[in-house]
Amino acid sequence: MSYHWCHGPSCHTYSTQDRVRGSKGSKVLRTRKIKVNNNGYPSGFYKYFCSNTCYNNFADKHAEQIVRIEPRTEPLETPIEDPTKEKHTTSWGHTYYDHTIKKRGVDTSME
Ligand SMILES: [Zn+2]
Repeated sequence: MSYHWCHGPSCHTYSTQDRVRGSKGSKVLRTRKIKVNNNGYPSGFYKYFCSNTCYNNFADKHAEQIVRIEPRTEPLETPIEDPTKEKHTTSWGHTYYDHTIKKRGVDTSME
């Protein structure tokens, strides 16, 4: 078992009971601690962020640095078959279409 402090820049400002620490007269709201078990759970970003809100706050604050990890100067593309469109009419006369987009082969752009 190990732990990380939540990396959310505002984690320590949210007024929840579990963040209250300290002794009477000198209470604080403290950044949440995330316990990571020996199987590495929680995994991914949940090891470092207590919530999606804290993750989003961090990503908003550091967006410029984050995109520099893997800059995208060109769009990626996934080959597809020509899309098909199937018309349906319900028994009460409503018309709708099913659009089918089928991927062709395996996308290797990320490899
Ligand atoms: Zn947090």
